Amino acid sequence: MVTKVTGRVSARIPRILEKKFMRKILIALAMAVLCTSPGWTQAKLSVHWEELTAAEFRSAIELSKGTCLLPFGILEKHGPHLPLGTDLLKVRYEVLHAAEQEYAIVFPEYYFGQILEARHEPGTVAYSSHLQLELLQETTDEMARNGCKKIIIVNGHGGNENLLPFFAQSQLEQPHDYVVYVMGLVAPPPGGPPKKTSTDMHAGESETSKMLIATPNLVHIDRANQESGADQARLSLPDTLYTGIWWYARFPNHYSGDGSAATRERGEFEMKAWQDAIVTAIRAVKADQESLKLQNEFFEKAKHPLDTRP
Ligand SMILES: [Zn+2]
Repeated sequence: MVTKVTGRVSARIPRILEKKFMRKILIALAMAVLCTSPGWTQAKLSVHWEELTAAEFRSAIELSKGTCLLPFGILEKHGPHLPLGTDLLKVRYEVLHAAEQEYAIVFPEYYFGQILEARHEPGTVAYSSHLQLELLQETTDEMARNGCKKIIIVNGHGGNENLLPFFAQSQLEQPHDYVVYVMGLVAPPPGGPPKKTSTDMHAGESETSKMLIATPNLVHIDRANQESGADQARLSLPDTLYTGIWWYARFPNHYSGDGSAATRERGEFEMKAWQDAIVTAIRAVKADQESLKLQNEFFEKAKHPLDTRP
């Protein structure tokens, strides 16, 4: 009996060893192929600024060709069913996934934007307008001082849509050795799973669908009808006029639309389109050799405008 057992075990040992040996050789071969392929450095470096070591950061700047992303969110109420950080969570999900496809360094959580119109709702963090601009300027200055000569601010919040082009324009106020590119909110292309609602500007069908992809565990879809997201249309002014209270006049609950209409399918469609657009933007910025050159030329001419001739 004992002999029989020993016999079986001893017969099995060489085969097991052989298998282990072969597996080791295969792993070593795979590692050798990976390490020599150009994709290896990219796969090894994190896209998160805060996860890189100082030495890795130097390589990351090289690999990204100085291209860095600043996903810009906000903290504000999002209807009765979505988290306060919805815009930050959504834009970071998209930017991080895009940067993994086309390498770029992603700046940590940034939510110091324009949201004065939601100061009446709990959990809103609304910095003063001068601080929004100063903090953003110092942030991009610091990014550039560290080698981010091409900065793409990717917006995730409607209230920043006026602030960011103004910020980009204000970069011409004085010379910079870097370029700020602003990527505004991306409207989904036509098609995709059909939508059920027409009023849908904030925490509605579209945004809730996208959150079902970004952070489904934070979506409380059963609470989406606890408040009304209807347009209350309390102002009647011509479209040619803009006034700061317009949003509150239409959507005092800081909710526009009906989040209960959301679906994962619609979310997948819209999130993919947005992510693809970010990848396209990163590639275009990496390839852009003109903006900085033109900026330098402009700043030089701006020193003596009387010498500027057509
Ligand atoms: Zn939002």
